[in-house]
Amino acid sequence: MPVPLAERPKNIILIIGDGMATPQLSASLYWRGVGRSVWEQFPFVGFHQSHAYDERVTDSAAGATAFACGQKTKNGAIGLVPPHFEPCRTILEELSALGWATGMVVTCSAVHATPACFVAHQDLRAFSEFIAEDYLKSSLDCFIGGGRGYFNDRPDRRNLLDSLRKNGYLVRFGTTFNQLPLDGSAPFYLFTADREPPSAHEGRRYLPMATARACEYLQKRSPKGFFLMVEGSQIDWALHANDVSWLRAELRDFEAAVTEALRFAQKDGETLLIVTGDHECGGMSLNPTQNPKHFAPAFTTRLHSAAMVPVLAYGPQAHLFSGIYDNTDIYFKMWEALSQESGARKRL
Ligand code: MG
Ligand code: ZN
Repeated sequence: MPVPLAERPKNIILIIGDGMATPQLSASLYWRGVGRSVWEQFPFVGFHQSHAYDERVTDSAAGATAFACGQKTKNGAIGLVPPHFEPCRTILEELSALGWATGMVVTCSAVHATPACFVAHQDLRAFSEFIAEDYLKSSLDCFIGGGRGYFNDRPDRRNLLDSLRKNGYLVRFGTTFNQLPLDGSAPFYLFTADREPPSAHEGRRYLPMATARACEYLQKRSPKGFFLMVEGSQIDWALHANDVSWLRAELRDFEAAVTEALRFAQKDGETLLIVTGDHECGGMSLNPTQNPKHFAPAFTTRLHSAAMVPVLAYGPQAHLFSGIYDNTDIYFKMWEALSQESGARKRL
């Protein structure tokens, strides 16, 4: 049974389905079949307008920078904002400085655009080695995802894993959680792959369990609260490939991760859970078929599209996420929910 909700959240979990908008959410709901889907358990739903600073269709770098910093930027930029494309402070960095525990759990590598925008500041998403270096400056408490090779198999021959260890991190490789300091005693990186992790239909399984473990760990890590970003990174890759069976596997995996986060939030009562996408991808439609009970997914592009993106919210102050607003407002709404000065000031 869900516990009564506090007035204000202590913790924020932001879950991003890369490339997930209304068609993908619909498909996930219909494919599930019987029973109430996790999507139907969110009491508040809104839409964000995903466009970039100067383009109608965003990429994942500008999209994640909007969530992380509350400002639109040009496509490809990682945590840099106009007019001079200077580094912006991300909500993860700001909350960390205020004593919150922070974490990220993703199914791509650490240097991929979405997670990068919360900790790194680089002109281009392609600057993978520089993005990895930016992780050394971050006070992130936990990272679970791929990309070990960007830290220890580099053109400049530096071993950034040693640097992480010098900074007090425990560094592990694999997809099991039993050797991690889950009692909250130390910060850690769990690299699940050398570069990009396998896809869900190739057998990748860790996202739901990693989401649950990260919530428990972060809760123990700081009495102030925590900020956790979780990404279903490969929903977007399946859509770029217009690959329905891959998409289906990624959406099933994503739904399981959201289910774990919702279960945590329902038991906790002080956690604001926000689930959204950064943009639509594939120009996906759900067309009729000969069998009147089924639908046929179809794609109109191999690129991203401009469709609005749903935002689902549960927990204290979840009502703030109703309505239609810019993707940048997600940043301000998170601050408003916490009732902290920083975000409110920034908006003026
Ligand atoms: Mg992404
Ligand atoms: Zn994409």
